[in-house]
Amino acid sequence: MKTPFVTYEQVQDIISKYPTPFHLYDEKGIRENARKLKQAFSWNNGFKEYFAVKATPNPTILRILQEEGCGTDCSSYTELLMSDKCGFSGKDIMFSSNDTPAEEFALAAKLGATINLDDITHIDFLKEACGIPKRISCRFNPGGKFAIANTIMDNPGDAKYGMTRPQMTEAFKRLKEEGAEEFGIHAFLASNTVTNDYYPTLAKILFETAVELAKETGVKIGFINLSGGVGIPYTPDKEPNDILAIGEGVRKVYEEVLVPAGMGDVAIYTELGRFMLAPYGHLITRAIHEKHTHKEYIGVDACAVNLMRPAMYGAYHHITVLGKENEPCDHVYDVTGSLCENNDKFAIDRKLPRIEMGDILAIHDTGAHGFAMGYNYNGKLKSAELLLRENGSTVMIRRAETPEDYFATLEGFWDVQL
Ligand SMILES: *Cc1c(COP(=O)(O)O)cnc(C)c1O
Repeated sequence: MKTPFVTYEQVQDIISKYPTPFHLYDEKGIRENARKLKQAFSWNNGFKEYFAVKATPNPTILRILQEEGCGTDCSSYTELLMSDKCGFSGKDIMFSSNDTPAEEFALAAKLGATINLDDITHIDFLKEACGIPKRISCRFNPGGKFAIANTIMDNPGDAKYGMTRPQMTEAFKRLKEEGAEEFGIHAFLASNTVTNDYYPTLAKILFETAVELAKETGVKIGFINLSGGVGIPYTPDKEPNDILAIGEGVRKVYEEVLVPAGMGDVAIYTELGRFMLAPYGHLITRAIHEKHTHKEYIGVDACAVNLMRPAMYGAYHHITVLGKENEPCDHVYDVTGSLCENNDKFAIDRKLPRIEMGDILAIHDTGAHGFAMGYNYNGKLKSAELLLRENGSTVMIRRAETPEDYFATLEGFWDVQL
């Protein structure tokens, strides 16, 4: 069973001040989870989580994670700017991008971020853009299928990211010649894994590769970056990952592979996004229409512009009708947004309590890759983001867009007589 992190009474109070729809984040949940991650990897001296900014690019959220000891993982110019503005600097910033423009490498270098190269051809490109830094990382893609105990988790052979195994050797040799002194290895081989075995399985591949690369090239490997991919249970039938078990699984492989190779000083990094934030966000929306045609529809005041995952991936997001938590789910609805796209449905054939107009719905697990993926199709505007503080108060951490924002890039729009 999935329960919201706010009560109906709390939400009633919040919507008396802020109109729906909005994203609401849970500071307490975010902090507790970040502390648990830190504890899970406390056996590793250099451990650091670089929060994937793309998941929830909001300065208030970044500062909360900063207070919990996290850095940021960026992949664009504006994410670098936001990290800098929030006071992340130097080694606190990882730059894991791909298909990277030269000016983005230059800004990353200027901020002293750790650059994680997606391709071997990026060595010359980087050299041209800003020179080769002393500390550098390369992204590995072993190809083929990524499986855990015969279950295929994902398909790295089809992914655009990373270098092949022979390219990793060549890249490390080249970078060493160019003056790099501290090396890192990064890989992201499966997304939203709901199993405690993903990180340990990935770690084994990366640790063995690290030992080989150190032997082949003589470089000093300073860190191994397990990147993102630890998932969350979007559906109520799944068990959440146990981050303490995951950390312990990685520790075992570390003791097995790296320590005997004399590499017991390698720092472990993570670049989690979804795991850090997804469960600690709800999209709060109001039922404004009901429609009885070939199916039963509930129209809400949010749409795919506020949460794209159902439309884009057919993703399941759990829905709670607030104040009706204990009523029987004896109705079957499609819950829709207003876009002129038939895939703008937050739920299809979902069993829910009887919904009346004005009811408030909490759409779960929207804290990561939720607001962030928003767009402006149909001229729809992005919502506000609110933070539920640990003391129970609520603050707005991003206002909703206005028509003025929507037209802002049309130079002189309001001056022209249409
Ligand atoms: C998206 C991304 C992440 C975060 O992934 P999650 O699934 O949110 O954990 C981390 N690193 C890189 C390079 C990414 O592209």
